Amino acid sequence: MIGKLLNLWTIGLMAAAPMVVSAQVDTTGFGGPDGEDLYIELDMADGEGIEDMVMPVLHWDVNDSLLHIPHYDVYCNWNTETIFDRMKVANLPKDTLRLQLIHEDCDHALPCPGHVTSPFGPRKGRMHYGVDLKLQTGDPVVTAFAGMVRISKYNSSFGHVVVVRHHNGLETLYAHLSKRHVKPGDIVEAGDTLGLGGNTGRSYGSHLHFEVRFLDQPINPAEVFDLENGQLKARTFDIHKGVFEEIAAARAAMAARKYHVVRSGDTLSAIARRYGTTVPKLCKLNGISQNSVLRLGQKVRYN
Ligand SMILES: [Zn+2]
Repeated sequence: MIGKLLNLWTIGLMAAAPMVVSAQVDTTGFGGPDGEDLYIELDMADGEGIEDMVMPVLHWDVNDSLLHIPHYDVYCNWNTETIFDRMKVANLPKDTLRLQLIHEDCDHALPCPGHVTSPFGPRKGRMHYGVDLKLQTGDPVVTAFAGMVRISKYNSSFGHVVVVRHHNGLETLYAHLSKRHVKPGDIVEAGDTLGLGGNTGRSYGSHLHFEVRFLDQPINPAEVFDLENGQLKARTFDIHKGVFEEIAAARAAMAARKYHVVRSGDTLSAIARRYGTTVPKLCKLNGISQNSVLRLGQKVRYN
């Protein structure tokens, strides 16, 4: 009984304060030296010792609170610290899962009206998991769909960043903001302002980095939105393995690339001979000319 109560109490805390506690809560340490007493007191029916109790547990119902978190049943977590689990292999449904992007009372909005300055996909040897949309610092950035704010924090790469979990099952990310106007647990409607655009984090020039994800897996925002006119491509979006194959193939191709690290005395022709390729091929792969001076430690791609 005590174990069950402890469990309920833990999730109760999450419901009362979703901004600080994830679903996987370590209960050790709660209550300090008097922690044991706390759980025993929860079992009392006559109200004795009630002044020592944590009040929210008295009014809280597990079924009600979890329903408030959009798609808790699919994600099985509510983490307000980790932006995405990039290493996670999503347990995707075998069959196509059709997401209803909008309902009659649940509309959509383009986060900002600017044109695309950098598309989704591989970019200069790195993966770009979103699209970059032009804006001026201070322009409002709005949420694409209704939902609940999961992340609102500063991150060294994303700068001021907001992630929203939507009722339609998707999550969206808004990065490089100059100001954030929301906090985890906030309920938002499509078009509500999340913050102001900016140039924070690893960013060169004011823009919005906008991502769309399902179970941490990146989806090309251009597959969901017509980014030029702000309209949805369709009222539904089908989740199936093919949606993520393009990015998985690009990641695998990037991982398979091989590099030679330049040492003293290396020349392009020596490197070409060593790896059974030619100088023109090396130049093309690395975007350099045959007369380029190699630096010690420089990485020269050879496949
Ligand atoms: Zn970007």
